[in-house]
Amino acid sequence: MTLDGLTKVYARQGKAGSKKALDNVSLTIRRGEIFGLLGPNGAGKSTLINILAGLVNKTAGRAEIWGLDIDKDQRASRAAIGVVPQELNIDPFFTPRELLEVQAGLYGVPSAERITDELLRAVGLYDKADAYARTLSGGMRRRLLVAKAMVHRPPVLVLDEPTAGVDVELRQGLWQYVRQLNTAGTTILLTTHYLPEAEQLCDRIAIINHGRMIACDTTVALTSRLDRKELRLILDRDLGTIPPSLGRYDAVHKGPRELVFRYRPSQTSAGELLDAARAAGLVILDLSTEESDLEDIFIELTRGGAEAA
Ligand code: ADP
Ligand code: MG
Repeated sequence: MTLDGLTKVYARQGKAGSKKALDNVSLTIRRGEIFGLLGPNGAGKSTLINILAGLVNKTAGRAEIWGLDIDKDQRASRAAIGVVPQELNIDPFFTPRELLEVQAGLYGVPSAERITDELLRAVGLYDKADAYARTLSGGMRRRLLVAKAMVHRPPVLVLDEPTAGVDVELRQGLWQYVRQLNTAGTTILLTTHYLPEAEQLCDRIAIINHGRMIACDTTVALTSRLDRKELRLILDRDLGTIPPSLGRYDAVHKGPRELVFRYRPSQTSAGELLDAARAAGLVILDLSTEESDLEDIFIELTRGGAEAA
């Protein structure tokens, strides 16, 4: 899947000005991989997905799905993907079985080639096959939508925030199913604002913010770039100045009795910092550490100069 200079400007009705939701995004998703599009709310993730799904018209750029241009080969390119939308919109009076059958009909899948039962089993809804959709929980609806996206066995499955509103156990189940599909050959594109999800599932990750891509790399390379933690110490008395012996660490005063070290776990251990603080005569009453989160990644990456990948 190739995106080339994809741009979307939403016209704001009734108000002056418009919103550039996607700004010149180019990236390639390789066949067989699980690719993550990571970014905070409002970054432009759904806009990108909805352009691929044919639900939003792009302002500029090109996109190819499975080698098929979304403008020139509209029908074929849409048949090449299955999209699980962010919103859980399901007709409440359909049963899961009916929903999958109707969807298969829309895609022109002949009855003999339908895999309704197989899909219902795969997403753990076989025993709910004939229940009204309105009786399904949020997690079940999400899984039903995954099954719905797969009725025509597309080579590419696109999931927009697949685990939003899904509790922890079901999240694991959903991830497992996504991995299974991937192992069986399906290329996966998913969006998330939740770093652990991208970390656990994805081979490569693109980070977008304000419609711009600020990084695109393998998950391993990205997470090693995020090699940053903070150690916060609460001291027993006011600290006038930072002792000179701590000068070689990145330590800052956050309050009279609070000292914060920023460090790279791959290079410095928290133990070393504690030893150094004690050796400098500090008495530590309490401490905490903090991992870098998505916010830090953005700060880190944008500070280092936007990186077109
Ligand atoms: P994400 O999925 O990453 O949360 P979206 O793609 O939904 O981001 O939104 C990106 C930006 O575009 C946001 O500022 C959002 O308010 C705006 N936006 C999304 N859809 C529309 C629309 N239909 N009309 C106008 N602005 C929109
Ligand atoms: Mg979204």
